[in-house]
Amino acid sequence: MNDTATKQTFSFQTEVGQLLDIVAGSLYSNREIFLRELVSNASDACDKLRYESLTNEKLLDGDSEFKIDIGVVKKSKTLTIADNGIGMNHQDLLDTLGTIARSGTSSFLESIKEGEKGDVGLIGQFGVGFYSAFMVAEKVEVLTRKAGDGEKEAWLWTSDGKGEFTIEAAERETRGTTVTLHLKKDAKEFLEDARIRHIIKTYSDHIGFPVRFGEDALNEASALWTRQAKDISAEQYTEFYHHIAHAFDEPWLTMHNRVEGMVSYTNLLYIPSTPPFDLFEPERKSHVKLYVNRVFITEDTKGLLPAWLRFLRGVVDSEDLSLNVSREMLQTDPKLAKIRTGLTKKVIAELKKKATKAPGDFAEFWKNFGAVLKEGLVEDATLRDKLLEICRFTSTNGDELISLSDYVERFAEGQEAIFYIAGDDAAKIARSPHLEGFRAKGVEVLLLSDPVDEFWLQHIHEFDGKSFKSITRGAADLDSIKSDDKDDKDENKDDKADEPSLDGLIAAIKLELGEIVKDVRPSKRLTDSPVCLIADEGDMDVNLERLLQKHGQLNSAMPRVLELNPGHTIIKKLAERAAASGSDGEGGSAMANDQLLKDASHLLLDQARIADGEAPADPAEFSRRLTSVMQSAL
Ligand code: ADP
Repeated sequence: MNDTATKQTFSFQTEVGQLLDIVAGSLYSNREIFLRELVSNASDACDKLRYESLTNEKLLDGDSEFKIDIGVVKKSKTLTIADNGIGMNHQDLLDTLGTIARSGTSSFLESIKEGEKGDVGLIGQFGVGFYSAFMVAEKVEVLTRKAGDGEKEAWLWTSDGKGEFTIEAAERETRGTTVTLHLKKDAKEFLEDARIRHIIKTYSDHIGFPVRFGEDALNEASALWTRQAKDISAEQYTEFYHHIAHAFDEPWLTMHNRVEGMVSYTNLLYIPSTPPFDLFEPERKSHVKLYVNRVFITEDTKGLLPAWLRFLRGVVDSEDLSLNVSREMLQTDPKLAKIRTGLTKKVIAELKKKATKAPGDFAEFWKNFGAVLKEGLVEDATLRDKLLEICRFTSTNGDELISLSDYVERFAEGQEAIFYIAGDDAAKIARSPHLEGFRAKGVEVLLLSDPVDEFWLQHIHEFDGKSFKSITRGAADLDSIKSDDKDDKDENKDDKADEPSLDGLIAAIKLELGEIVKDVRPSKRLTDSPVCLIADEGDMDVNLERLLQKHGQLNSAMPRVLELNPGHTIIKKLAERAAASGSDGEGGSAMANDQLLKDASHLLLDQARIADGEAPADPAEFSRRLTSVMQSAL
């Protein structure tokens, strides 16, 4: 490429430009995190080259002593971070620093706009940490040369962060990257020795390469996880977590273990106390770094941990994995599978400990990651029982999270199933009319509001010998459950004493609604509401159907069963009306001519739909019918 020899100007990709505006203009108080991000990039670059050189030693060109140098020139107000890592060529620069928005860019912008979690300091989590340099610098230069024989040229990338950057051919004697920050007027503190020393000390203690400031090495450059737990302070554990997760929160749980056996490994794993931004992105990326004998291999190792543990952060280091195979081969190594089994069991055991010994604390974890953990119920059949033990739920019993064992212990007399109602909104399902009869009888119902709930319920049909039963599908088995001291059969008789037969009304509604409903039946689950919709036994549950439709996996919904509350005044009155018009000699046709009965049929259906959070089938018709019925009542 000849034209690359001269200086070329490029525009930042639009989103990157927006990101830079935000970063440069932010009044963020922990600006020093830019140094953490840049040192971390330098360390990554050394890690990458070390890994590449395992199969291609020539890349090292005799220099295998990786290091990171920090330098300050007070006169020119510059701060430099230099490494002898893998470096970048012309194309790498274009790909990584500006013309293409990396995947985290838009997520970062969104999180900033949302405000609540919008913390500029979390920039590193989104994989765009480099740009944090513009918090403190009015101009940034990146002088870089890629490792390798064919890579003789060096490049200088320059930008003031205002829409454009330039790349030109430059000189650099050896491989690696030097980032030079021309500090803003208000960022001169980062020229002070003591300040720099302090920041580097805090942030780089656990970097695996020496970080030097002038003549002095500022860190031990030993991997933290290789030290004995007794030699590591709580602060060091937390700092390492901040470093590895680009986070600021306290880890909710820290697990540092050494396992000796057929496959030996060390793990230093953390569970964050705040949910990371990408938890529910479709990639379901792992963020645990895999090392083989202290050599960094990769961060997103498929096969190291199940996707439903993707909230974990930290490192796993094993000397028993082979360094000489590709990352792809490594993923299918049976030894890696052994590590995965060991780690998974360990994590579940730790969680169980917390769940039993510190339920309040565990509730915090559950709120953040319960929905992720429940994916394991679907994906790891062998672990189902163990996972079910630590699953927690909300129920009609109150705000406290309960376990399935708690629920079963509280079974009402005669209760045989674990009742649940599922929907996408916890508050909404808690108010659902379907719950009325259960509440009246004092029967507890689980409230399931995570989308994943529908999926594990497809696979797991019982707990402790008790089956799961949706209260929005099939008949409500309330008759067999005793409430208070009465024999419920008698009670039902008493209840039904003043209830007219619904046969005529049901026939009229069926006639009017036709195929729109699968059936019309008297309900046992309602006390206050006149109607509700349920899925027929054997059909797909209402919530699952809604979920599949939302994700485009289902085009049409099954007709549902409309249930009528025989004890409700309007149902009673309508039943009387239907009976009267049905007995005038002309049978069905008279009913069919009763406009009010016809309108009421549709209105009842719409009312049930609205109570489920859905729209009336035809809003204009709904409005017309409502008007007409109100008019006749006035
Ligand atoms: P991340 O490091 O999370 O990928 P950054 O915005 O910090 O995000 O860096 C973007 C990319 O720029 C890196 O992935 C890497 O490819 C490249 N890069 C940044 N700094 C260096 C460096 N010192 N040496 C080599 N490549 C670098």
